[in-house]
Amino acid sequence: MPRDPLPLLHSTFGFPGFRGVQESVVTRVLAGDNTLAVMPTGAGKSLCYQLPSVVLEGTCVVVSPLIALMHDQLRAATAVGIRAATLTSVDTDQMETIARFRRGELDLLYVAPERASNMAFRELLTQAPLALFAIDEAHCVSEWGHDFRPDYRLLRPLLDHFPHVPRLALTATADKVTRDDILDQLGIPREGMIVAGFDRPNIRYTISPKDNTTRQIADLIAETPGAGIVYCQSRAGTEKMAEALARSGRPTRAYHAGLDPQVRARNQADFVASEDMVICATVAFGMGIDKPDVRFVAHAGMPKSIESYYQETGRAGRDGDPAVAHLFWGAEDFAKARQRMSEVEPARQAGERVRLQALGALVETPGCRRKILLRHFGDDAPDYCGNCDNCLNPPGAVDATEVAKKVLSAVFRTGQSFGMGYIEQVLTGVSTERSLMNGHEALGVWGLVSSADELALLKPVIRALLLRDALRANDFGGLEFGPGARGILKENEEVSLILQPKRERRGRGRSGS
Ligand code: ADP
Ligand code: ZN
Repeated sequence: MPRDPLPLLHSTFGFPGFRGVQESVVTRVLAGDNTLAVMPTGAGKSLCYQLPSVVLEGTCVVVSPLIALMHDQLRAATAVGIRAATLTSVDTDQMETIARFRRGELDLLYVAPERASNMAFRELLTQAPLALFAIDEAHCVSEWGHDFRPDYRLLRPLLDHFPHVPRLALTATADKVTRDDILDQLGIPREGMIVAGFDRPNIRYTISPKDNTTRQIADLIAETPGAGIVYCQSRAGTEKMAEALARSGRPTRAYHAGLDPQVRARNQADFVASEDMVICATVAFGMGIDKPDVRFVAHAGMPKSIESYYQETGRAGRDGDPAVAHLFWGAEDFAKARQRMSEVEPARQAGERVRLQALGALVETPGCRRKILLRHFGDDAPDYCGNCDNCLNPPGAVDATEVAKKVLSAVFRTGQSFGMGYIEQVLTGVSTERSLMNGHEALGVWGLVSSADELALLKPVIRALLLRDALRANDFGGLEFGPGARGILKENEEVSLILQPKRERRGRGRSGS
């Protein structure tokens, strides 16, 4: 019988007790049962294998996708006195690690998934007792996951070679299809799945359309004290954003994989130590960073998927104090994502499409954001959370079908090749040399939009049409019809717009809830 883990939880880790589902996961692992733990970022996944690794006889082999992540984990484990090592191509102490493993002196051995298919490694694992296989970031095994890594498919034969060694798969980010797939791929029974609640009640979710993102984020920073992360879409974007935000007087840093490693490490260390720094980063930033007092996470553009959004925003408020997650999105983000989608292998396009639709639903909803997030992960959620933009400030909806039809007609009549600005000019009848030359002033759609109400809807309508793929932007910014155009023009499909209660929009009160 394994020893009681509680004294070790206190003495080794210094924690007063288990958090959330940790206890059920550790209990299964100690009983030798195969388990999949789905726990949100910050819920304490590492403890679920680290604790058993010191309780159980033998070594726990941890499979992890990133060498940097392994080294972070190694440092943390060693700091609390766990006997741990990594075995990766960049380690110079491989011989010593192998010798320590053979002598049974390792609680934890971190390896990359590709080692699994290495016969010498398999042979090595027969030379000392194994306590557990822990498979971190287990969603990487699934083509449905947002981060498929073919190397993870090599794990199953290795696991099956040691049928008596229990397996523990861990992930923060798996929707239902991906979870089922992980169970199948890694040979874990259905009842072995333990899912922690995904709600992060202290995070306030807010989502707005882009309208000069830099200014919007500067405003956000001005009203949000404390350290924060701004996720940018490109490496150059992080540096530009850091420079622009520095004018607000807050300390800022940029972080991306292209920076000199020393600069990058220093920026990260500065951020972790600071109480008011804003770090402008690509999504490369955040994995394995232990900073509980991040007060806000802003996205200057669409994340890759709801999973990524949840994971990235999950870095805010790990200490449980109020924190803000603010996403700024533009129709062009969706257009780009669709473009990328057409470039992935056909077999994966369906998954990509579903991911994109889920993101579209999240940004477009007039309802509770948290509800959409939690239901995405299979959690039950009430219709009202009271801590997201839409719950706090219910948006009104307007019927914009007529304006949408006018926009589509203008795009069609002008030959599906002009950009947003020009289409607006045509619809509002702003005469230019270009419109004269093109002969567009004689068209029936010329000056068709004149009332102030319709004018105010033009830009949001075009954005909505791009989002639902009724319009597409070509490589030169020209608008053309997408598959969604037909329903609106021919089948009287309704286009209703959400009016985000904005500061600029004076006099428009909230609609009742
Ligand atoms: P995850 O990998 O799920 O994102 P970590 O394993 O990095 O989370 O743990 C997140 C934080 O929670 C760490 O700072 C860790 O020390 C802390 N933690 C983990 N388990 C407990 C616990 N039982 N009690 C208190 N703090 C815990
Ligand atoms: Zn809500």
